[in-house]
Amino acid sequence: MPPGHRPGYDPFGAVTVGTYAPSGTYRCVRFATNFWDSTLPGSWRREIEGMPAHSLSLVREDATPMPVVPAGPRYQSWGRYPRVARQDVLQIVWRCDVPRWDTLDRSVLPFGQGRSYGDSCLNEGGVLLDASGLRRFISFDHDHGILACEAGVTLAEILAVTLPRGWILPVIPGTKFVSVGGAIANDIHGKNHHRAGSFGCHVRNLELLRSSGERMTCSPESHSDLFAATVGGLGLTGLILSAELQLARVGTALLEVERIRFGQLNEFFEISEESDATCEHTVAWIDCLAGGRKLGRGVFHRANHVQQTVPAGVRTRGTVALSVPFYAPRVLLNRYTMKAFNTCYYGGQFTTTRKRLTPYERFFFPLDSVRNWNRVYGRPGFLQYQCVVPPRVGRDAIREILERTARAGRGSFLAVLKQFGQRASPGLLSFPRPGLTLALDFPFQGRPTLALCDDLDAVVAQAGGAVYPAKDARMSPEHFARYYPTCDDFLKHMDPRFSSSFWRRVTGATD
Ligand SMILES: Cc1cc2nc3c(=O)[nH]c(=O)nc-3n(C[C@H](O)[C@H](O)[C@H](O)COP(=O)(O)OP(=O)(O)OC[C@H]3O[C@@H](n4cnc5c(N)ncnc54)[C@H](O)[C@@H]3O)c2cc1C
Repeated sequence: MPPGHRPGYDPFGAVTVGTYAPSGTYRCVRFATNFWDSTLPGSWRREIEGMPAHSLSLVREDATPMPVVPAGPRYQSWGRYPRVARQDVLQIVWRCDVPRWDTLDRSVLPFGQGRSYGDSCLNEGGVLLDASGLRRFISFDHDHGILACEAGVTLAEILAVTLPRGWILPVIPGTKFVSVGGAIANDIHGKNHHRAGSFGCHVRNLELLRSSGERMTCSPESHSDLFAATVGGLGLTGLILSAELQLARVGTALLEVERIRFGQLNEFFEISEESDATCEHTVAWIDCLAGGRKLGRGVFHRANHVQQTVPAGVRTRGTVALSVPFYAPRVLLNRYTMKAFNTCYYGGQFTTTRKRLTPYERFFFPLDSVRNWNRVYGRPGFLQYQCVVPPRVGRDAIREILERTARAGRGSFLAVLKQFGQRASPGLLSFPRPGLTLALDFPFQGRPTLALCDDLDAVVAQAGGAVYPAKDARMSPEHFARYYPTCDDFLKHMDPRFSSSFWRRVTGATD
């Protein structure tokens, strides 16, 4: 069997098309989708176009390792804080590209699309294994909605292929520019957590490359311990090469979305309870600068997929309309501009309830329509603070967090509140758990911002909750140990060559 290739991933059989000099020998595998591999030489494309299968991709049979090079500006996290001074990168393009471990004297960390906010996707002083070149579809079972693809394929690419065929990703985060590897490593969640649980619940199996050179297929049934460590494992158990996902059936790419304005936090709890019983997707935007009787006011969004045919004239796709061309000057971001934004957004909901047919992209990814929106926070970047607090004490804890935030006057444009459901997350270090989750953006203003987050940590820890590592750039080792008591179990499965800036910060590990 050639390296990087598994028989189950090759439903149409393999066709050998020749040798692509000088870099190596390739094997051509037919796939069920219409995706072209941009790494395919043009003449080969022509040769292949005449073939009956819809499209093809290549698996390289021999491995010529790529060089380790200094990492460019692309290798930052979404929050632009912290900045990494020295970091190298090694591109992984083929599943058979095994890094030359003997030539790497520093720790490594997989990198997907850098959509994590803090330092969990950074490796100061070490090497990033950029997995975005692993971008091939492997197979798609149309009848059962089972998709196998490489780990660098993005959720946007998956949705573009599967939605027209009646299948949707079972868990969708707030941006489509996330890789499958990143989605697994952070065990991400969506607006339907109360129904579907986290992303890892829908991973049938994954292929993991360890620094020992071993390739392991892990699933809830096989190497289940390593599977549980890898889902939500922050890229520290090895490099995910590919995964097989169970998709969900869907009738159309449209959702019927209802927006309900509410005047205070208690109303949120009522609407959320009622909506979770009847709606697939639920989430609320909160005006986190409103205090007193208006504390926790906001706009609730709830939606269900439109299962029948799309009414004539209704658009099913959203478009990218805007871009932030440069970092906004710091002076634009202050409590007055943020208060003005929050007041306008809240007041802009003309009626208390609104129902509308909405294309899936507009509902799931409103922020993706503004490219580089993170630049509005200026060069210093921003922190996202996302926590979850258990149901028992959740309401009081959320109220306390909002009060502290409003008092500090450092609130954000974006504050999102949602009720997580009961479905257990499969990862040892998974963040989603039953309770209320709140996400707040804070422009990074040095010490006062860090002090506010520490203050919020005290509430979360007291409530028995947790802070999301994918969004974190500052939690203390003490809090990490408290939020993730399964960390000792996780350590048994960590790959000794893998580490990250986040990991060293929260565990005190030196490499
Ligand atoms: C606008 C926006 C909205 C978001 N909304 C949500 C949301 O609703 N819910 C949610 O849960 N998250 C959300 N996120 C966070 C985002 O989904 C996660 O941070 C996700 O993990 C990012 O994936 P990535 O491909 O960019 O990976 P990166 O950020 O590059 O890396 C994330 C982690 O995955 C690891 N990793 C990446 N590729 C591999 C691989 N091949 N093998 C092993 N490990 C790998 C990295 O080492 C790192 O630890 C949002 C982010 C943004 C910017």
